[in-house]
Amino acid sequence: PTLPYDDQNVFAKILRGEIPCNKVYEDEHALAFHDIAPQAPVHILVIPKGPWVSWDDFSERAPADEIAGFVRAVGHVAREQGLPVRGYRLLANVGRNGGQEVPHLHVHLFGGGPLGPMLA
Ligand code: 5GP
Repeated sequence: PTLPYDDQNVFAKILRGEIPCNKVYEDEHALAFHDIAPQAPVHILVIPKGPWVSWDDFSERAPADEIAGFVRAVGHVAREQGLPVRGYRLLANVGRNGGQEVPHLHVHLFGGGPLGPMLA
């Protein structure tokens, strides 16, 4: 089932320009900006522009060009930040058990230094 999309979530407001963000990349399908509370030297959030909450809905229901655009945008930002040589980490928290706080699908991009183990 498709999760209802709350268009008052903070990333929806960022997409509409109602609250500011520190933007690093934008194209037709995706927006990337610095996380407000960085947990690594580089901590960027990449979001699809469509009203998707979960990875499973997005991957099942979004048009293929939107999925491709989003996936490409993540890789593009990693390259633009100079991360591929030393490596980086991608993370998507999905739903309650996943610890998702903002109900608009997003991928965390961490890098800029050794990241250590991820799961407690
Ligand atoms: P989640 O737990 O949903 O995967 O992560 C949400 C992330 O969004 C957190 O890392 C949090 O710091 C970030 N965040 C929450 N509100 C804002 C905001 O208004 N601006 C930005 N740039 N990041 C935010």
